[in-house]
Amino acid sequence: MTTELTPTVLVYLDGDPTRAAALEAITLGRELGDVVAATAEPPTEATRETLGQYGVTRVLRLDAGETDLRLPAVVGQAVAAAAEEIDATAVLLTSSFVTKEIAAHAAHHLRAGLLVDVGSLHLHDGRLAGDKRVFGGTWDTSCAVTTARGVATVRPNAVVPEPAPRPASAEPGVLTVSVTTPAGLELVGREVHESDADSRPSLAEAAIVVAGGRGTFGDFDPVNELADALGAAVGTTRDCVDEGWLGHDAQVGQTGVTVAPRLYIGAGISGAPHHIGGMSASGTIVAVNIDAEAPLVEMADFAVVGDLASVLTDAAEAIRAHRGG
Ligand SMILES: Cc1cc2nc3c(=O)[nH]c(=O)nc-3n(C[C@H](O)[C@H](O)[C@H](O)COP(=O)(O)OP(=O)(O)OC[C@H]3O[C@@H](n4cnc5c(N)ncnc54)[C@H](O)[C@@H]3O)c2cc1C
Repeated sequence: MTTELTPTVLVYLDGDPTRAAALEAITLGRELGDVVAATAEPPTEATRETLGQYGVTRVLRLDAGETDLRLPAVVGQAVAAAAEEIDATAVLLTSSFVTKEIAAHAAHHLRAGLLVDVGSLHLHDGRLAGDKRVFGGTWDTSCAVTTARGVATVRPNAVVPEPAPRPASAEPGVLTVSVTTPAGLELVGREVHESDADSRPSLAEAAIVVAGGRGTFGDFDPVNELADALGAAVGTTRDCVDEGWLGHDAQVGQTGVTVAPRLYIGAGISGAPHHIGGMSASGTIVAVNIDAEAPLVEMADFAVVGDLASVLTDAAEAIRAHRGG
């Protein structure tokens, strides 16, 4: 009689390990095998409890000694070392600028195939495989790595985070990893942007995005009001960034942030290909525009033809009334 070993899945948790994007990666990881989490910071009791509810069997803090575990090139080495140590079949990360860089370094060190921005995962002949939307949302593709071990970054909002049917113990542990900072690389400064980060979800991971374009004429009050009523992140177009109305951090599109929220509301945005390339994987797209023939109106699941100032303000008021606030 042969017994098949359950694959081990390493999920590297950057930032807050219990935020939605991290729990989504864990939820997908559970479909592949036993999930072991790795963190750079020691997890709190509350963090371990939450991770246990999502089926994480072990939480390993990566100890790199004196080496700074903030540079993606170094974290990638540490993640690769952890994957080798626990013999992980798959290594999963969330999908931000930083984690994609970490994933690339980890894949390089493991000599493993890399899948970026996948929305679902499975094992194909024992190898990591996933589905992803590409070319501005015009194609859905399936891809599989050809190496025994695979690395993947999970697109935010790809799945609803689900607690495990049976909670696990999330046993704490420390894994000492031997890593070196590559020659010529030094972290000389680090600046955390204040912006609205404290009160609003991050644009790349938000479940709802309200974006305003040049149709706002620089007045983002209605956009902010609706975003706050919905608990959404605020996005914009490059033209508004060029005008200095919002910072580049808020730009959605080909040369900005790629978003795939469950709900994207674009107000006063024409829907240029450069913008659509960064939001077309969104679940439901709503457009608000005075022009019924604007490309974003034509591609939207739902459109309101009207002045955004009144439409967004009325919508925010109705949502607040509905929520009794
Ligand atoms: C190399 C390159 C890279 C680029 N990268 C990006 C990118 O990453 N992201 C990006 O967004 N753009 C990018 N662009 C710019 C892009 O091509 C468009 O110019 C830009 O997206 C248009 O922004 P907009 O929709 O805000 O403005 P516009 O195209 O001017 O559209 C404004 C819209 O507002 C509507 N409107 C006007 N008044 C109202 C009102 N009162 N109520 C409701 N609607 C109203 C109008 O009908 C119109 O549809 C890039 C361009 C280049 C050349």
